[in-house]
Amino acid sequence: MTIDNDIRFVLLDLDGTLLDRHFDDYFWEHLLPEIFAKRNGMTFAEAHRELLARFKREEGNLRWTDLDYWSDNLGIDIPALKFQMRHLIEVHPHVREFLADMRRRGKTIVLVTNAHFKALDVKLEKTELHGCFDMVVPSLDLGAAKEDITFWQRLEERLGPDYREHSILVDDTEAVLQTARRYGIRRVVFKAGANSSRPVKRSDQFESIESFRELIPE
Ligand SMILES: [Mg+2]
Repeated sequence: MTIDNDIRFVLLDLDGTLLDRHFDDYFWEHLLPEIFAKRNGMTFAEAHRELLARFKREEGNLRWTDLDYWSDNLGIDIPALKFQMRHLIEVHPHVREFLADMRRRGKTIVLVTNAHFKALDVKLEKTELHGCFDMVVPSLDLGAAKEDITFWQRLEERLGPDYREHSILVDDTEAVLQTARRYGIRRVVFKAGANSSRPVKRSDQFESIESFRELIPE
């Protein structure tokens, strides 16, 4: 399952793929509803239901990733809260080894993420992953989420028109992998176990890894 020589570009998602999604899941599903409940005189269950309905409405589009939008919508300073909780941000095991191996083998390492630049700053700073990428491409920069084929088309402007034939993508969101496969990305890999505190479930549609160790030669 290692990466062959035809692959020049290693495209990597951030949340859930390189980083443990425990942080985001806790943040959005537990901490925010708790604060929202307190501020609005609701129970946790009511706030949880209300937030879920609001999130659902924006799923898979750019607004979903826009922290400023959610700060306004919920009346909570989300970037500040993320910064305050940054001690919970963790890199998945073997990610650093994998990145070092790709660097050694001369691959171009590209971070492709729907994360908002304010969240990105907090996360890359906390984990010190900054220097590991040749390029960081937030979907807000390309004006389309990764679930939208436009994102992959516009990435040609950065990586060249034939990048799809020389790329591997690793992501923990199947909808993203589906779009990338439809666009023609040569190899798409599902990262299972995105949240280390939940059971690991491999994909039945895509090649899956539980750990980046599986992509490093022995
Ligand atoms: Mg992800």
